[in-house]
Amino acid sequence: MRLRCVHCGLELPGSLRASRCPRCRGVLDVVYEEAPGRILAPAGSRPRCAGVWRFEEALPPIPRRHRVTLCEGSTPLVRLERLGRELGVPRLYAKLEGLNPTGSFKDRGMAVGVSAARAAGASAVVVASTGNTAASASAYARRAGMTPIVVVPAGGVAAGKLAQALGYGATVVEVEGVFDDALEAVLEVVEEEASLYPLNSFNPWRLEGQKTIAYEVVEELGDAPDWVVVPVGNAGNIAAIWKGFRELLDSGEASRAPRMAGVQAEGAAPLASAWRLGLRRPLWVRRPSTLASAIRIGRPVNWLKAWRAVEESSGTFTSVPDDEIVDAMRALARLEGLLVEPASAAAVAGLRRLAEEGLVGPDDTVVVVLTGHGLKDPDAAASLGAPRLRAGGVEEAKRLLRGLARRA
Ligand SMILES: *Cc1c(COP(=O)(O)O)cnc(C)c1O
Repeated sequence: MRLRCVHCGLELPGSLRASRCPRCRGVLDVVYEEAPGRILAPAGSRPRCAGVWRFEEALPPIPRRHRVTLCEGSTPLVRLERLGRELGVPRLYAKLEGLNPTGSFKDRGMAVGVSAARAAGASAVVVASTGNTAASASAYARRAGMTPIVVVPAGGVAAGKLAQALGYGATVVEVEGVFDDALEAVLEVVEEEASLYPLNSFNPWRLEGQKTIAYEVVEELGDAPDWVVVPVGNAGNIAAIWKGFRELLDSGEASRAPRMAGVQAEGAAPLASAWRLGLRRPLWVRRPSTLASAIRIGRPVNWLKAWRAVEESSGTFTSVPDDEIVDAMRALARLEGLLVEPASAAAVAGLRRLAEEGLVGPDDTVVVVLTGHGLKDPDAAASLGAPRLRAGGVEEAKRLLRGLARRA
C-alpha cells in the first residue's frame, strides 16, 4: 500500500498514522499495489458479523488482532415506490445507513479507522465533529479499549448525537464557533501530539471503510445504478463511494459506474455554488448555516477528492434550501415510513431538483444514501408537525378515539 497526495501527487509509504501531505497539507488517498482479483463474496458465503471486514480483500491489510467491528454495514437497500412515483423517478432505492450501530454511515469508516489507530499503537482518538463522527468514534474507540476525545461546535450538535458521545463517556470539548473551527484545532494539534490519533475524514484509512457502501449497492442490484445521490458536508463520503464503484469496475464485478450527485444545503454550499458558476475551486463559506447540522460545513477538507469524483463520473453538485430539506424529510417519513435526519433528507430534496431539471430521468435507476437515523435529531423530527391531541383522562381519551374512528 502507498499513500498519494490528491492535491500535489506526492507519494508516501503506507504508514497507518493518519496524516496529510507533508509538502502541501493536502489530503491523501490509499493506493493498493495490487488490485484485488475479486471484491464481492459469492452470495451465501458471507460470515454473519464481520462488519465491513467481510470485504477484507479490498481493505487495508490491518492484522486481524487489531481489527474492530460492531457489525456495521450490510444495511438494507429498499425500493421507494411512492416517493419515486412522486419525484418522477420510479426506479428509486434508498440505502438505509441510519441502521448502522450508532445510526450513521460513519461506523463503516470508524471500523477501519479505529483499527488503524490500534495497529498504530494509539491510546486515544480525537475528532472534530458535527455529531455523528463523535458518536461513532466514541463507540468504536471504546470497543477497541481506547479513549475518545471529541471537539464540537458549541450549540451546533443535534441532541441525539451529543447524548451518544456523552453516553460513551467521551471527553467533549465545545468550541465557540463552527465545525470548521473545531477541525482547524484538531488538525493543528495532531501534528504536534502523536499520542492523539485523528479520525476525521482527512484520515484516508477511514474513507476505505466507507467505500463499502458501493460494494453493497452492486451486490444488491447486480450492477451499478445510473445515479447515486449523497449529501455532502466535509465531502469524504461521496469520494469514498465513488472509489468503491471504480474498484468494482476495475475488477470486472460491475460493468459500469454511476454518476455521482453531491447535495449541499444552500447555506453551506462551497462546492455546489462553485460548480454552478463553472469555477475550478470551492467558494469557502465562513458562517455556514442550515438546519441540517451534519452538513453545516464551510471548508470541506476533502473538497478535491469530491470534486474529482463528480467530474470523473459525469455527475453534478446541487444545493437545496432548508424548507425543501424539511419537505423531503416529511415525505420520506409519511410516504415511506423512513425517519431520517435532515442531512439525509437533503439528498432527496436534491434529487427532486435534479429530476425537475431533467438531469435525472424516469428510466434511471437511482440510489439515495440516507446517511443518518431520524432519532439523531429528535427536535427536527418533532418539528415536522403532526396532530397532537390532549385528553384530560380516560373518558376524554375514549371520546377522542371515537371521533377519530368515525373519520378513519
Ligand atoms: C457526515 C455526514 C454527512 C456528510 O458526509 P461527508 O463525508 O462529511 O461529506 C452527511 N450526512 C450525515 C448524516 C453525516 O453524518
